Amino acid sequence: MAQLTAEEGQIVDLVAEFVDKEVRPVVQALEHANTYPEALIEQMKQLGVFGLAIPEPYGDFGVSTTCYALVTEQLARGWMSLAGSFGGHSVVSKLLLRYGTEEQKQRYLPRMATGELRATMALTEPGGGSDLQAMRTVARRDGDDWVVNGSKTWITNARRAGLVALLVKTDPTAQPAHRGISILLSEKGDGFAVSKDLPKLGYKGVESCELHFDDHRLPADAVLGGEPGKGFAQMMAGLEVGRIQVAARAVGVAQAAFDDALRYAQEREAFGKPIWQHQSIGNYLADMDTSIEAARGLVLRAAETFDTGGRADLQSGQAKLFASEMAAKVTLDAIRIHGGYGYSTEFDVERYFRDAPLMIVGEGTNEILRGVIARQLVQRGSARR
Ligand SMILES: Cc1cc2nc3c(=O)[nH]c(=O)nc-3n(C[C@H](O)[C@H](O)[C@H](O)COP(=O)(O)OP(=O)(O)OC[C@H]3O[C@@H](n4cnc5c(N)ncnc54)[C@H](O)[C@@H]3O)c2cc1C
Repeated sequence: MAQLTAEEGQIVDLVAEFVDKEVRPVVQALEHANTYPEALIEQMKQLGVFGLAIPEPYGDFGVSTTCYALVTEQLARGWMSLAGSFGGHSVVSKLLLRYGTEEQKQRYLPRMATGELRATMALTEPGGGSDLQAMRTVARRDGDDWVVNGSKTWITNARRAGLVALLVKTDPTAQPAHRGISILLSEKGDGFAVSKDLPKLGYKGVESCELHFDDHRLPADAVLGGEPGKGFAQMMAGLEVGRIQVAARAVGVAQAAFDDALRYAQEREAFGKPIWQHQSIGNYLADMDTSIEAARGLVLRAAETFDTGGRADLQSGQAKLFASEMAAKVTLDAIRIHGGYGYSTEFDVERYFRDAPLMIVGEGTNEILRGVIARQLVQRGSARR
């Protein structure tokens, strides 16, 4: 069982109740109309969800990463889009907490904790998201300003976010390239355009956009931590919590698919008995639940490691890899169990099936993560635990 304080346990229970009472009754309508869930996001602000990764003195609710992951799982059990809507926000919170100057923390974190200010991160470019060191967005110095030119794509919450942690090259000639990469804390202004909303398979309701920068000016102190050239390492550390969040989302989506399948397998009859009593269907249920539990265990292990303050890239990578592949399989098996109704848009299982692949691709594809994991295994050897 996860180690939570009594207060953290209450927070998870409160969010689970919110999901059952407020989210599940409306999710199908919002999903199919592709409507931004304004009212639900407001309720999430009231519940303190946007401040979960922000401790005192900047926020009121800072909780352990374990609690944060379990809250994420609950929201994803209701609607993955809700869990996704604060994923990038939490990564930016952690980046500011870990690397921000005191002035940057004071400026952004208190408003981020209440959800008044929403944040996102912009790494991926039209030319590629995996090979970040090849990025083309550049910020050059002009007097006291940085001047940004370039494009980003697939940026979650881009229209609603008031703060973007923008990965740029501040020294395009640096060798190795990562030494010339910085994170700029960018607010919207002249030369910053949200140029396109991208149509998607799932993850409905929440916008994913292209951004275009045309001589967008930012002050010299917009560099995270004040010193340019550190952004690549900072972002890789931030992505550890991002991967835990994505893995927790996968567990939540799979849990929802399993819950629906378990119920349906008891209600639906074929050949004179509930379908779960046919061994093939019972086996699906057994395997689904076993793999969900295994994935949750990896998520909680990664969360605990992250909270020790040490590196959690191995654990967060393993959690994200396993949980996302698990969710893709479990959501397909839930469709199998529902038979023809699994293919119906009047049931929720088709949504889980469309949402699951995002966790395979987002926050570092699983192909990239396997490389990260293998390198860590070789470096750490048998001392890795
Ligand atoms: C809905 C959605 C929301 C997103 N939100 C955000 C966001 O908020 N911010 C953000 O910055 N990005 C966001 N992304 C982008 C996401 O992080 C990228 O799509 C992802 O990192 C992959 O980049 P790419 O799409 O350019 O694929 P590519 O990098 O072009 O990769 C294509 C394929 O090649 C494989 N590949 C590439 N290099 C290697 C290698 N060295 N070894 C093995 N295989 C390799 C990849 O694994 C993949 O299978 C989002 C994406 C989606 C779909």
